[in-house]
Amino acid sequence: MERLEQNVIHDICTNQVVVTLDACVKELVENSLDAGAKRIEIRLRESGAELLEVVDDGKGVDSEDHAMLATRHATSKISKYEDLSSSLDTFGFRGEALAGICAMGDLTICTKTAKDTSASLLVYDHYGKLTSALPAAREVGTTVSIRDLFRRLAVRHREFTRNAKSQVSATLRLVQAYAIANPMVKFQVVAEKTKGHGAGRATLLATSGLSNGWIPAAAAVLGDATVADVKPLEIRSAGTGWTISGAISMPQGGRRTRDMQLFFVNRRPINAPKRITKLINDTFHQYNSRLYPVIILSFTADQTLVDVNVTPDKRTVFLHNEEKLLADIQESITELWAPADRAPSATLAS
Ligand code: ADP
Ligand code: MG
Repeated sequence: MERLEQNVIHDICTNQVVVTLDACVKELVENSLDAGAKRIEIRLRESGAELLEVVDDGKGVDSEDHAMLATRHATSKISKYEDLSSSLDTFGFRGEALAGICAMGDLTICTKTAKDTSASLLVYDHYGKLTSALPAAREVGTTVSIRDLFRRLAVRHREFTRNAKSQVSATLRLVQAYAIANPMVKFQVVAEKTKGHGAGRATLLATSGLSNGWIPAAAAVLGDATVADVKPLEIRSAGTGWTISGAISMPQGGRRTRDMQLFFVNRRPINAPKRITKLINDTFHQYNSRLYPVIILSFTADQTLVDVNVTPDKRTVFLHNEEKLLADIQESITELWAPADRAPSATLAS
């Protein structure tokens, strides 16, 4: 028996974290948010296959971290395991994303902090080793560029080029969700085509970073028509530790598909929790059997109540006190959709 070479281990393990374009963009956007960015631009050249770039105005990377940045388990966000269970309000904490991404394509990072006199242009090899660092010009913030995404991995590259269109739309949906959850951040997604038919630039998403409240934020991202019949929803969930707010369609509204059902935990988009979507859709169907509600539901709690360390992409989470949450959600949506004046009066009966 032989020990795997370190580089082989790197290739095997990192390939699991960043498997699609949207997974890659998700990690980069979360890093920008973690860095306190107020402006995040995502550029996709040839659907991201030629160049994927995320530009932010966050705090930048300290020069002492340049060499370690793309090394597995290098993170500036936790230093000991106990930190994981205390209240951790950043998205990243595993230090795996950049280590995974550098194996997928050619990674360069241009970054500047407030205390640097000039920016640094950093080049990494496919194993995360810093191979070149040169001075460059840039405002405070970070630009992460990946060229030839997936080209090293024949199967994944073929898969990617075959489904480029659907990967771009999955990426757009993901950024839409982050933009709704972070209405004070200006998001932009730009697609560039350099060759052939339809060459040019197209802005796929642009928010102002000035919206306030769920409905204006959703309107800015999804369009006014999508939120025309949407009302704010506040859910009291005493004793569970959760604060839940968001917005939901009234029964006279709704959509033909359930494509606008977005869930967040502590500003992080998550996969729709099955039992919660089922409960809400079933209840909606009592009032409107043909359509599905738009749902924007944001759960906020101390990080100790959330277990996000479940899947590598951190999109599947466990919510504590789920039974009580379901009951509270049911009560609030029923109150919204069937106002109390229609219900029999409990005080008269007693
Ligand atoms: P994690 O986010 O889990 O810490 P990553 O591999 O995503 O791990 O990033 C590694 C480190 O690189 C981060 O901890 C952070 O210090 C730094 N970093 C990455 N992207 C940015 C960015 N856009 N702005 C500032 N620092 C960044
Ligand atoms: Mg990260």
